[in-house]
Amino acid sequence: MAIRIDGKLMSAQVLDDVATDAAAFYQEFGIKPGLAVVLVGDDPASQVYVRNKIARATECGINSFKHRLPADTTQEYLDRLVADLNADPEVHGILVQLPLPAHLDEERILTAIDPAKDVDGFHPVNVGALNIGKESLIPCTPQGCMIMLRKVLGDLSGKHAVVVGRSNIVGKPMAALLLQANCTVSIVHSRTNNPQLLTKQADILVAAVGKPEMIGPDWVKPGAVVIDVGINTVERAGQYKLVGDVHYAAVEPLTQAITPVPGGVGPMTIACLMKNTLTAARRLETQSRSG
Ligand code: NDP
Repeated sequence: MAIRIDGKLMSAQVLDDVATDAAAFYQEFGIKPGLAVVLVGDDPASQVYVRNKIARATECGINSFKHRLPADTTQEYLDRLVADLNADPEVHGILVQLPLPAHLDEERILTAIDPAKDVDGFHPVNVGALNIGKESLIPCTPQGCMIMLRKVLGDLSGKHAVVVGRSNIVGKPMAALLLQANCTVSIVHSRTNNPQLLTKQADILVAAVGKPEMIGPDWVKPGAVVIDVGINTVERAGQYKLVGDVHYAAVEPLTQAITPVPGGVGPMTIACLMKNTLTAARRLETQSRSG
């Protein structure tokens, strides 16, 4: 019987550790770690994500600074806000919730964030550092996937890992982390010929595609560990529900372990955001006191 990798339980453990760290941080530095969250516009999913992030921060003893801006916010206003947050000593982490309204330049904003406060790990400086194995802030979703994989498998050395998807926020950093953990890594994307030829060899299969239940049993090697990053809303019998990129019911019996959707990777992503905020806070405060 496959292990159901419980993201809620694992994220609660990560958040407990963060809360302990945040209390120690306060004792040591006399301030709380601070996370600024910027939300532009009225996207309902983004509002839910931001609410959850702020709730988790509060539970962990992290100060949160919410900046809710109207959909017609100008680029100049947003640039100025990010510059102010970069300069604010109470803010250790800055998160700009994506997607931004179409008139705003996402890349410009993400690169305007001080890399030391880039708790999403999307700034080119952090992307580069991750790829050459230097200290960086690691994107939250792949970081959460790695915690889950290590919990289930321990040492990942020598495993063949196949990542389906090559986005900058999930697929590519996921592949980089697996490589750093000494896996042999293949990346499958929309132009890959016969993707199943590769996925059927995977000891570790990570799906980050955004296509509901695309990965069926004919994509999976028996005994594989499957991590489903996908979050897709589908309508079934007049009801909306969330499903992953993996057809859970059909694939689960084949696997050694698998994450459900919801309750898998999602909660780990938020927990790792809190972990990154602590990491950034500690680095910034240590640096400011030593120099
Ligand atoms: P993107 O749309 O940015 O990337 C999707 C990737 O899938 C692309 O690289 C694309 O290839 C590839 N792809 C598309 N179709 C196929 C196919 N038929 N076969 C193989 N590869 C294919 O998505 P994201 O990476 O941002 O997100 C992926 C999923 O993860 C989404 O469902 C998203 O909602 C979810 N997500 C979940 C998070 C969580 O916390 N659980 C966090 C972030 C995302 P190509 O590059 O060639 O176009």
